[in-house]
Amino acid sequence: MSANPTTPTTPTTPDTLVTTGREIRLAARPVGTPTAADFALVTAEIPALAEGQILVRNTWMSVDPYMRGRMDDVESYMPPFELGAVLDGSAVGEVIASRADTIPVGATVSHFAGWREYAVVDAATAIPLDVSGVPAQTYLGVLGTTGLTAYAALTDTAPVREGDTVFVSGAAGAVGSVAGQIARKLGAGRVIGSAGGPAKAELLHSEFGYDVALDYRAGAIGEQLAQAAPEGIDVYLDHVGGDHLEAAIAHAKVGARFALIGAISGYNATEPVPGPSNLFQAYTRRLNLRGMLVTDHLALFPEYIGRAIGWLGDGSLRTQETVFEGLDQAPAAFLGVLSGANTGKMLVRLAD
Ligand code: NAP
Repeated sequence: MSANPTTPTTPTTPDTLVTTGREIRLAARPVGTPTAADFALVTAEIPALAEGQILVRNTWMSVDPYMRGRMDDVESYMPPFELGAVLDGSAVGEVIASRADTIPVGATVSHFAGWREYAVVDAATAIPLDVSGVPAQTYLGVLGTTGLTAYAALTDTAPVREGDTVFVSGAAGAVGSVAGQIARKLGAGRVIGSAGGPAKAELLHSEFGYDVALDYRAGAIGEQLAQAAPEGIDVYLDHVGGDHLEAAIAHAKVGARFALIGAISGYNATEPVPGPSNLFQAYTRRLNLRGMLVTDHLALFPEYIGRAIGWLGDGSLRTQETVFEGLDQAPAAFLGVLSGANTGKMLVRLAD
């Protein structure tokens, strides 16, 4: 990511532009699967800019499965959303007022004040984007932490070696849809993906470069994986947990490497989720099970972006987006990413 070569302009104040904007607040903490009633769409005053701040007209925002955990009042690696307060998350937009020397009006930036139409952001926390070659929302997907998650998992957490058999769950989603293709580029010999339903399974073959597509809704994932990888798997990227993790352990080769990235099958659980019943096999097979958070791998961004821009440019890395239109649709988009309404990256378009 690099700065736009835009000439700084005289700072303006938001009251010369817009004074109010809509935002989504947390109306209630869900028990189990969230519903639309857990969110409130509110029109709020836009605060005046302090020195060093910018006003961003958000054009795109991301909805991500990890946000489900932030709806609960529990300690985790990110603080919970506050009841009654505006939500946050990754977004991109255009700077329409600036009181910062570093970021001029007209720049396109990414930042963390999503779930609102207009965001007042400390310029020091915004990242200017080069949108000369790619649309801005690409930085919320394949050129953002989504793509980096797949790359870091496959190069660091569970590194792929030449000829490996790699299994990826959630393979038609944002991370999974690029992970299979990146695994192949890094030398994997056979790439197996799982997703829900025949349409997604077909996409795994036709769009996302998987050799074998498993539809976990069509039958037990363990039996399907046994057939797909009769000699076992070398690498597993776990986005699902539950039955998928158990199946991967059951069909792992000795010394296989697992990146534990997410466990979406349990995110809406109302009771503690039991661990895999066959964890003892991790000992006997000397498995390497490693949890990962993409935020520990940000130093890889320049290397990854350099490679990913090349792959996108030569057409060898294919991506998809599922787009909901308008801030009022953001809760539906979020509920959709939890239930599988997306292929590729789930996004909300807030403005042109
Ligand atoms: P995503 O895959 O685009 O969307 C989530 C997908 O999960 C849905 O499309 C759905 O696809 C699938 N799913 C939902 N319930 C399921 C279930 N019970 N069993 C199997 N699949 C289910 O989301 P993403 O952003 O790429 O994230 C994927 C995973 O990685 C999530 O667990 C997320 O929390 C995690 N993640 C972790 C990090 C990190 O730093 N550790 C970073 C990014 C993402 P189907 O239609 O196929 O069911």
